[in-house]
Amino acid sequence: MAFFKNDGVTTFLEKFFDTDQRLVQNLLFWGEESTGKMTTARVFSEALLCSHNKKWERCNECSSCKMINQGYHPDLMIIEPEKNSVKIEQIKKGLEFLIYHPQISSLRILIIDKADKMTEDSQNALLKTLEESRDNILIILVTDAHKKLLSTIRSRLLSLRFIRATDKKIIDFLHKEYSLPQEEASLIAERAEGKIGKVIRLMDPDYKKVLDKKREYLIKILNQDFSKQSLYFKEITEDKKELSSTLEEWLRMLKSNKESSRLNLSLDKRTKLISSLLKAIYLIIDTNINRQLLMENVFLQL
Ligand SMILES: [Zn+2]
Repeated sequence: MAFFKNDGVTTFLEKFFDTDQRLVQNLLFWGEESTGKMTTARVFSEALLCSHNKKWERCNECSSCKMINQGYHPDLMIIEPEKNSVKIEQIKKGLEFLIYHPQISSLRILIIDKADKMTEDSQNALLKTLEESRDNILIILVTDAHKKLLSTIRSRLLSLRFIRATDKKIIDFLHKEYSLPQEEASLIAERAEGKIGKVIRLMDPDYKKVLDKKREYLIKILNQDFSKQSLYFKEITEDKKELSSTLEEWLRMLKSNKESSRLNLSLDKRTKLISSLLKAIYLIIDTNINRQLLMENVFLQL
C-alpha cells in the first residue's frame, strides 16, 4: 500500500519497532485534518503486529498479516465516534479488550479516532489505564482538536504532531508510488495544499472524473450561445459550495498555459475571465447574490 511518511513523526515511531527497547508509552497523534494521522496509526499498528516486520514493511505472510489482509485482527481495535461522540460504553469495550493477553501478536493495540469526541466520562474512564500502562498494550489517540482533550489525558501521552507536507515531497511520493508524470503530480500537489489525505482523494478516479466534468463545463460554456449557456448555468449554480469549487477549478485551468490552450481564449479574455471569476467566488461565498445572474454576467462581459 502506498504510504506517505510524515518524516518527523515516522522517524520517531521507528523506535517502537525495536522489540528490545520498545518504549512503554501511549501516543497522541495530533494535527490538522487530512495530514495522514489515521493512516499512519493504522500502518504503524499493523507493522507492529506483524511477526517479521522490517520497520514499516509487513511480511504479508505471518498469521498476523494474513488476518490484517482479511480485515480483522484480534489484537487490534479501532474506536470511532458513534453519532458524533465516543461514548463510555465504547471506551469500556476498548478497555476490556486491553485486559486480555494478545492472541497472536506480542501486543494489543487500541486506536481511538477523533478522540476529541470522547465524552468527559469516556476520557475519565480511559485515564486509569493510561496511568498504568503495560508493555504489551499500546493506545493511540488520533485528533485534529487536541485541545478538547482533558489536560490530564494529554499529559499521559507522548504527543506527535502531524504537519502539512511540502509540494516537493508530495510530488516525489506521487512519482514513486503512483508513477505519476511530473506535470500531473505538480497539479495534484498544488491542489492538495500539503495535505496528504487530500492527495489520496485526488488520486481517486471517481474524484478525478468530477474535476474533469467541471472543466468540461467551462469548455462547453465558452463554445455555446447564450440560450444554451443559461442551461449550464442553471445546473452548476444550484449549490453554493459546489459552484465555488467549480469556479476554483476553472481558475486553475485558466492559470495554466497548457490547459487553457484547450479553451481557445485570447490572453486578454483569459485575464478578464480570471479577474471576473475571482470576484464571483468572493460574492458567492460572502453574499446572497443571485448565482445564475452572476454567472450570466461573467460570461456576457467576455
Ligand atoms: Zn507479517
